[in-house]
Amino acid sequence: MIENSMFEEEPDIVDLAKDSTAYPTFPSLDPDEVVYEPRSSRLLVRGLGENDVDDDEEDCESSARLLGMSFMNRSSAQRSNSSPYARQAPPRSCSPPSARTTVVCVLFLVIVASMTMVLYFLPGCTFTKKGCPKPENKTSNGTDDELFPWAEFRLPRSISPLSYDLTLSPDFNNMAFTGHTVINMSVLHNTKRIVLHSANLNITKATFKLGDGDASEVNILEYKPRQQIAVKFSEELKAGQNCVLTLDYTADLSHTYSGFYNSSYTDEDGNKRVLAATQFEPLYARMAFPCFDEPLFKATFKVKINRKPEYMTLSNMPKVKTTLLPNGFMQDEFAKTNVKMSTYLLAFIVGNFTSTSKNISDIVVSVYSVPEKRDHTDYALDTASKLLEFYNDFFEIKYPLQKLDLVGIPDFLAGAMENWGLITFRETTLLVGRQSSPMEKQVVASVIAHELAHQWFGNLVTMSWWSDLWLNEGFATYMQYMSLQKVLPQLDIGNLFLAMRFRAMDKDALNSSHAVSTEVNTAEQVEEMFDSVSYEKGASILLMLNASLPGDQQFRKGIIQYLKQFSGLNTDTGDLWNSLTEVEVPNQHPNVSEMMGSWTYQKGFPLVTVSRKGDQVTLTQEHFLLKSDDTSHSSSMWTVPVTYMNDSCSLSPECAQLFTLSTKSGTFKVPESVKWLKLNYKNTGFYIVDYGDDGWGALRDALSNNVKVLTQEDRASLIHNIFSLSKLGRVSFRQVLSLLNYMPNETETSPVREALLQLNNIYHLLYKRYEQGLVTRMKLYILKQFGALMENQTWTKEESVSKQELRSALLETACYLGEEKCTQQAKTLFKQYVDSNGTTQIPGDLQQVVFSVAARSIDDWGTLLNMYRYATYDSEKQKILQGLASTQDTGSIIWLLSAGLHGNVIPTQELPLVISTVCRSFPGNLFAWDFIQENWNQLIEKFPVGSFAIQRIIKSATSQFSTQSHLNQVQSFLSSLKERGSQLRSVQEALDTIRLNQRWMERNLPSFHKWL
Ligand SMILES: [Zn+2]
Repeated sequence: MIENSMFEEEPDIVDLAKDSTAYPTFPSLDPDEVVYEPRSSRLLVRGLGENDVDDDEEDCESSARLLGMSFMNRSSAQRSNSSPYARQAPPRSCSPPSARTTVVCVLFLVIVASMTMVLYFLPGCTFTKKGCPKPENKTSNGTDDELFPWAEFRLPRSISPLSYDLTLSPDFNNMAFTGHTVINMSVLHNTKRIVLHSANLNITKATFKLGDGDASEVNILEYKPRQQIAVKFSEELKAGQNCVLTLDYTADLSHTYSGFYNSSYTDEDGNKRVLAATQFEPLYARMAFPCFDEPLFKATFKVKINRKPEYMTLSNMPKVKTTLLPNGFMQDEFAKTNVKMSTYLLAFIVGNFTSTSKNISDIVVSVYSVPEKRDHTDYALDTASKLLEFYNDFFEIKYPLQKLDLVGIPDFLAGAMENWGLITFRETTLLVGRQSSPMEKQVVASVIAHELAHQWFGNLVTMSWWSDLWLNEGFATYMQYMSLQKVLPQLDIGNLFLAMRFRAMDKDALNSSHAVSTEVNTAEQVEEMFDSVSYEKGASILLMLNASLPGDQQFRKGIIQYLKQFSGLNTDTGDLWNSLTEVEVPNQHPNVSEMMGSWTYQKGFPLVTVSRKGDQVTLTQEHFLLKSDDTSHSSSMWTVPVTYMNDSCSLSPECAQLFTLSTKSGTFKVPESVKWLKLNYKNTGFYIVDYGDDGWGALRDALSNNVKVLTQEDRASLIHNIFSLSKLGRVSFRQVLSLLNYMPNETETSPVREALLQLNNIYHLLYKRYEQGLVTRMKLYILKQFGALMENQTWTKEESVSKQELRSALLETACYLGEEKCTQQAKTLFKQYVDSNGTTQIPGDLQQVVFSVAARSIDDWGTLLNMYRYATYDSEKQKILQGLASTQDTGSIIWLLSAGLHGNVIPTQELPLVISTVCRSFPGNLFAWDFIQENWNQLIEKFPVGSFAIQRIIKSATSQFSTQSHLNQVQSFLSSLKERGSQLRSVQEALDTIRLNQRWMERNLPSFHKWL
């Protein structure tokens, strides 16, 4: 949470932390050494900041404000509310100040400032009121009149933690916990303070011990806006010394999904069960224990948890001991971590879980669930075991812990979290029932593959700072697809990976996008890094790199070298490229660092235009930027590994030739007999291609004659590219439609799904503008193009994932458009299902379409809601919920939104899903948008500002608007949010998207009437 008033009241401090021009990068030196620059207001702030300000001085605050001076911890009213160490605020004797008081105060401040300057230049002095160094040994709690000794978002690097010893006692009766944390630290640079993180912890006692000395109590100062605490010393701690800080505290278990949070579920006997789990990434370990909560500060951890005998506990390491405590509680003690790790990877859980286990290369792999779902853990156990073996081999580094637990948590916001040795999941991403479809298994296997890859990428080698989050997430995403293609080829993960790359391009084409590796200076910016650029673009550029390197082992060699070289350490993007460059084949041009720098340090991607004269082909690149206004201009250039093939050889990898385009334009030759060229073999490159009128025409003709002249990935890539070019205004909608003329002959999953998705998007835009005539024509067009294929789909059990993906996309569209045969079939299946009391199964990939059709009738909606209440199998439950949320009945929509917010019938973790589904319908979108505006404060209490959930909520509510009045509304609401969200990138993205929709409509509506 951000305290608004602190932003308003302390601009100097906030600016120092936020303003990147004032402080372009995090200083590499310990800011100890740069803090006292005798410059401008910074000196005043720091000079006064180091003084103890007494009551008289506080009374003069308002006068000081008249002078534009700023006190750091000055607002006593605020502090008494916000700090557990606040003393009573003194009576405000000079507010408003009389003229006399003002004069006196001004004089006083001038004197203080002058004295401060004098003291500052006295060697060896600190800014105590007494003037010269004095041992500071207060035993009372910190008070607010001491000023916080640190003014940056990131911690100083003068102190580094070595180990944490942590004892926690959760109390489920009061939903609170007490904690005892011992931090061993080493002094890296001389310093007079220790600054670390703490959020919402009520510290009751703090002691400090230097070297072999005695421990003594110390003051703790707190600065809530940055969730930092500090201990100040009158004498310097010297580089090379070790010291120990011990903190006792109490806190409430968090009621959000972050920190050490409480969660509950209803067991099969209808009893409410409580549990507590952790989610620390990115900034929430500090809610469970005071710590240096940045990925760079790796340390070892030893955890002890006190619990009632009826619960069990889990943590990253195996349990080594359980002791009965005098109060009847049990204390579980876990082994000290044998690896150094970042705070965000620590985890512990208290609850009732049962497990199934397997031993894989001396590592115990276990899958935990609540007892009634134990039968659903087999698939995950088997998959995790296979993948663990694969990664052990692939990385040539063995998983370093003795055990690996995968736990399904009933109440969990993210998909899963890679805590080292204790991976936590949503139940839907871990548990697989006996009746589940291969598509559901695909989800579970993907998430497990992703989280397991993190045990190396992220846990063993960690990004130094959140600006390079992609090193974790891009890699884990890439490895998830790559490993599944090798380990579980039957899951056909390729279609999903291709679609993911298309969506990553769609987002990266917007002006609101950002570089893969990008500066991060606030908590919200940290949250916002968890987006499609870090994950999906990150994975896409790794695929592109791998595909463009000669031989299939060079990429692997490079990443093994990187993992070995930086094992246990932190890295930035340059380290990865350097490792990959080092294993390069000599004299290869361009080198990896040169090429990949252009993809990670600037946003967006190139549009490559092809023109051909006889045997000469010219490629030109420019930034593919969807501009919502004419002012944005980009001169970005990339080193593009362009692949191309032609009509004589176009299907096998050997057909693809490589041309590196590293300047604005480049040429190569092809035989004059070549009829057509297709660039970007299987769309492994992250760029879009415009073939020009002739090039598009030749490809269109080739596909009309025979769809098999290109791979299905290449056909999907043509469809994606031509729709993108139409958004850019490069091709007319008529050209789009004329490429799609070949669709009745198309039967493969990727091209069909891509075409349907693009056409559905346009359908939704027309529908939301109430263009009824065009909506009908669009519907007829879709049914004409895909009708035969829709007709051919079966409604019975299907084993091939690819066929499931194809038929679910086709039937969802058909039923959504009200195609008669589809809705009849869906109704019949639903009736059989209800009549049989759930014993007749609906194939998993068809559940959503069946439930969505059922939700159209008020009676069946009620039946569905009942089914939802009692469903135990989570994947099915989620599809029922999507069915419920697809209703157009306004009463039901309002009920769903409000139930999702309150979390009783519908868990709040599902609210983003409810909102995005509701928004598909016309009334749903309008209600959801109202709901978001009305309940914004509650939403950001549940989901942090900038988090993925908030990004998703904003996007789904606004991305289908295309009128000026909606743009005005959205703009006015989002900008009114100020520090509650108006600065978010997703806000910019929402506005960009509406403007682009508006432009696209203006440009294309007239031609729709003509061409559809
Ligand atoms: Zn991840």
